Amino acid sequence: MEELQLLIDLHKGAHRQGPGGDEATKKALDLATIDHDTPLKIADIGCGTGASTLILARLLNARITAVDFLQEFLDVLKRRAEIEGVSRKIVPLCCSMESLPFEDEEFDVIWSEGAIYNIGFKKGVTDWNRYLKPAGLLVVSEISWITKTRPAEIQEYWESEYPEIDLASSKMRILEENGYSPIGYFVLPEHCWLDNYYRPLQDSFKAFLERNGKSQAARAIIEAESRERELYEKYKSYYSYGFYMAKKLGE
Ligand code: SAH
Repeated sequence: MEELQLLIDLHKGAHRQGPGGDEATKKALDLATIDHDTPLKIADIGCGTGASTLILARLLNARITAVDFLQEFLDVLKRRAEIEGVSRKIVPLCCSMESLPFEDEEFDVIWSEGAIYNIGFKKGVTDWNRYLKPAGLLVVSEISWITKTRPAEIQEYWESEYPEIDLASSKMRILEENGYSPIGYFVLPEHCWLDNYYRPLQDSFKAFLERNGKSQAARAIIEAESRERELYEKYKSYYSYGFYMAKKLGE
């Protein structure tokens, strides 16, 4: 099985595909001052199996276009939405975040948790700006340094994994320079990484290896995931996901 198929197989059974939490999603909704009753059109980009999509659907009077380029994840999202009785609020869309078929000023809110790094923060916030109505809201989580300096080992690891990792002040500047006014920011707490993401993932390793015949490729994926987690445990005071809320300028 090729690497992407293995990654899908490892992650699709999980509640979420990156660090996050229901409380964090709710806090972001509050900080962005999103009204729960007003009818809204929302795009959740890089939605995975729907950790955030389902909360937004449950809490808001919204129609949510849930975008991911992996149909397998969207199939899980669809099933979960049916079970929770919110499927009429969600339109799954299998496409790349780099070529979205949206119209200009179509959305009140663009939401994206743990996914914008796939296109790069700067490109994502710039490209997606036109899909927001004037004064529309962008809510994204993005891996960020939370201290001005950090040990070389973690600096080098993340700069090679994701060269755009930076301080919140730099991310705010990118927002300000690309058509937004930042309105809120907070750092994802530790349990969003360990309890909500790494631990459930680790609990699934044994079955994953067995399903995949303990192949070399499957073991390599487990090793890479384990290394990422070990580094997180060692250096968690230096980085996290930052949640950024910003309003599109205009009007
Ligand atoms: N928001 C979810 C998933 C985060 S993981 C959560 O918080 O649990 C990142 C997601 O982005 C994955 O589901 C992955 O399939 C999706 N993704 C990666 N590259 C993409 C691209 N180019 N276009 C659309 N989705 C992409």
